[in-house]
Amino acid sequence: MSTRVLICGASIAGPILAHCLALHDGFEVTVVERASGLRPGGQAVDLRGPGKELIKRLGLDERIRAACTEVLGMSAVDRDGNELNRHLATDLGGDGPIAEIEILRGDLSELLYEETAGQAEYRFGDHVVELEQRADRVEVRFASGLRETYDLVVGADGLRSGTRAMVFGPHEDYVRDLGALIAYFDVPNHLELDRWMLYHGKRGHAAAIRSIRDNREATALIAVPGVSADYDHRDVAGQKALIRERTAGMGWEVPWLLDRMDEAEVFYFDTCGQAHLPSWSAGRVVLLGDAACCAAPTSGQGTNQAFIGAYILAGELAKAGDDHSAAFSAYERLMRDYVAGNQRMGALTAVPFAEPEEAAEWNDDRTLGTVHGIELPDYAVL
Ligand SMILES: Cc1cc2nc3c(=O)[nH]c(=O)nc-3n(C[C@H](O)[C@H](O)[C@H](O)COP(=O)(O)OP(=O)(O)OC[C@H]3O[C@@H](n4cnc5c(N)ncnc54)[C@H](O)[C@@H]3O)c2cc1C
Repeated sequence: MSTRVLICGASIAGPILAHCLALHDGFEVTVVERASGLRPGGQAVDLRGPGKELIKRLGLDERIRAACTEVLGMSAVDRDGNELNRHLATDLGGDGPIAEIEILRGDLSELLYEETAGQAEYRFGDHVVELEQRADRVEVRFASGLRETYDLVVGADGLRSGTRAMVFGPHEDYVRDLGALIAYFDVPNHLELDRWMLYHGKRGHAAAIRSIRDNREATALIAVPGVSADYDHRDVAGQKALIRERTAGMGWEVPWLLDRMDEAEVFYFDTCGQAHLPSWSAGRVVLLGDAACCAAPTSGQGTNQAFIGAYILAGELAKAGDDHSAAFSAYERLMRDYVAGNQRMGALTAVPFAEPEEAAEWNDDRTLGTVHGIELPDYAVL
């Protein structure tokens, strides 16, 4: 009999887990996403080091590389737009601050969805509102009123995971703020950037613009000082007002960006934060990706963690047969050191929301993404 798995969240961690489970026999997978469709937006996410090796094993290398942004590099600029220093995508073997495998987050989510839509059932516009664990199953009630029973439930629903809140307790117990709030939105490529990113940092504040999609479009990022308690995560107008207020006096292109913020089709705002939990599973419920161990966008490792975690979780579940507890323990044991390294990195690299000269120094010294790795276990896959 198949193991019925419910995955909550269809961004990156959810769909890549669906893909990894489909590489083994015996899983019947449903993915539920709270939003009414795949969520677009965000800037680019990266795969570095072991993540690059993993996509080859998962048969996704070619598709992901074909969808990469092909950005050539990034310049830090002062408030008048003068270049202070630059990083190339080829630096540090492609694992540097601008990674060789860099893909727009929305594109990666769509690619993973397309890859797995025939292997898992996707349901959009719904979410779990009640979850009861029994010795041999989990009984779930959805917001739509649907009631179902699963063998296992995976919370792949991000830093502010509703699954985690239901089973482990409130966000405040697990989410650690790093002191910055970040907004991502689309803008025209008015600077005519050619596969390039510009970054302007001023202590506690940062702004960046990069061209995307063959330079036809651009995306912007603005980071300001702040913590989760400063805003309501469902009040977009309030978030924009906060960005305006806290960027006052920032030079460079920031006033122009603020003028474009309201016209943006896609606006995404979140805390630069991390998730720290003593355990990633409780009974038949397990957490994956940002819900379990978000290392903050500044680590550049969120997608690596989601991919590697999904690969290991699926592999251990397949190996353990009915013993999901053994699988969950092994998954956590194999991932913990790697995650701890990424979280240290995420906290350290939150510092470059500082003077660009300082940012350059940090990036050189800490070699983003390359200071630690993880040995990928071998699993027998189909
Ligand atoms: C719109 C968006 C833009 C992003 N932009 C960037 C970026 O530019 N740079 C960066 O480094 N990181 C970005 N991230 C975060 C990045 O995707 C993650 O750090 C990483 O890839 C791990 O992904 P994840 O799937 O664990 O979490 P997330 O990507 O946060 O995805 C969680 C998913 O779960 C869904 N969800 C939430 N609650 C529930 C629920 N109760 N039930 C079901 N589904 C639920 C959310 O709608 C979302 O689709 C972004 C995330 C989102 C959602």
